[in-house]
Amino acid sequence: MKILFCASEAFPFAKSGGLADVAHALPKALAQSDEVTLMLPLYRCMSFDRERLQKMAEKRLSFGGADYRVTLHTLQYAGMRVVFVESPPLSERDYLYGNPGSAYGDNDLRFALFSHAIAAFAKEERFDILHLNDWHTALAALFAKEAGVEAKILFTIHNLAYQGVFDVRRLPLLGIEERYFQMDGVEFYGKINFLKAGIAWCDALTTVSPTYAKEILTPEFGCGLEGFLRLHAGKLTGILNGIDTTLFDPRNDPMIACPMKRKISTFKKCNKKALSHAQNDLPLFVFIGRLTEQKGVDLLIALVEELASLPLRFYFLGEGDPQIGMWLEQMCETYENMAYYGGYDEAFAHRLYAAADFLVMPSRFEPCGLNQMIAMHYGTIPIVHTVGGLKDTVHATGYRCGLGLPYTPNEAEVLLEQIVQALVQWCEPETMERINRFNMACDFSIERTAREYRKLYVECIGK
Ligand code: ADP
Repeated sequence: MKILFCASEAFPFAKSGGLADVAHALPKALAQSDEVTLMLPLYRCMSFDRERLQKMAEKRLSFGGADYRVTLHTLQYAGMRVVFVESPPLSERDYLYGNPGSAYGDNDLRFALFSHAIAAFAKEERFDILHLNDWHTALAALFAKEAGVEAKILFTIHNLAYQGVFDVRRLPLLGIEERYFQMDGVEFYGKINFLKAGIAWCDALTTVSPTYAKEILTPEFGCGLEGFLRLHAGKLTGILNGIDTTLFDPRNDPMIACPMKRKISTFKKCNKKALSHAQNDLPLFVFIGRLTEQKGVDLLIALVEELASLPLRFYFLGEGDPQIGMWLEQMCETYENMAYYGGYDEAFAHRLYAAADFLVMPSRFEPCGLNQMIAMHYGTIPIVHTVGGLKDTVHATGYRCGLGLPYTPNEAEVLLEQIVQALVQWCEPETMERINRFNMACDFSIERTAREYRKLYVECIGK
């Protein structure tokens, strides 16, 4: 199969969250048996050697009464061809989407431009599958259908909370014809909704876990799109994301101090020792993630006094809402058993997964969540709110992969009970070792995910 996979970010070129992990690992896994092109914007802030890029083509894209200069660059990476789209409004920025805590005012134009470039490229080269991801590339489904692109279009929603909603006055500028501004098109309460274009014009719609696929059809999790999604539910499936187990490999991870050999407890001890804040005789709890309401870190902040009085250490790693960052800073200055690193640091995240005994994820909603899978792979037991992909991957008992301490409802006191339960568990090293061995044998690999996508691609092509 010839697949064109498009996203606004992919590791190792640009990453702000889980989308980048999947947009790297999934096409890479697919490339083992299929011909894959990964299409990304070229951002000025990308940190890689530009010398490796080869110029492919220079074009002009005309839409919305303007002409945009677009240069396509390419390089070979991990068995696939990566094509970068460079155009001044899209590329000449210091950040991917906006200065920390805010969004660029012309993100609608930037990603409409990217979507036009995708559709034009898909028209020019013949592909069997055009796989689009999230709102940034959603308009490409509409533009590709308009242009008569023959490839079957798959659209994946990684997080329904981000829809790309913009002022209707921008419609002509974006090159969207007015006839598409209606309820079964891109109209959303008088505004333009990019995500709706992906949902409406794709041939198959996926989201990143089976539970989230059901949740998004309800008012509680549908973010206002539940009705529209129900209308398209016939083409919706949930495919669980997976992790790149070559990148996240506790036996062979150059970012961590001690590789895993035999006993998981020895691995933990050694990596904890290398972490300045940790103490070997106390269990280490970590939170790793974006500082947003979604991730529920405020529940942990609400438990600060209880956490301070328990025999544990807590490490927070996160970036996002400055207010949440400030609370974490204050809390960690006050209590010496807590530490906070504000920022995005890939290597440090690896070191925390390797050293921690427990990972806490009090997410209010979680489309899939990669952290809990990475954690289980590194012998770290997840404590999670049973929601979305967390419900599909972390179980209290039984034989389903994996094992951890799930809880519901998502209230601070209930979470505290699980943390106390975790402390009890920590005092039973054999139980810890058994649970971690079980989790490490679970298949959370992206290869499993890729097999499911491949099946869906074949089904789509057959239709
Ligand atoms: P998201 O909702 O952010 O996409 P996921 O659980 O799907 O959440 O993926 C998060 C990914 O980003 C994981 O690889 C996690 O380790 C990483 N991550 C999140 N925050 C940070 C941070 N501050 N520093 C380093 N890595 C981080």
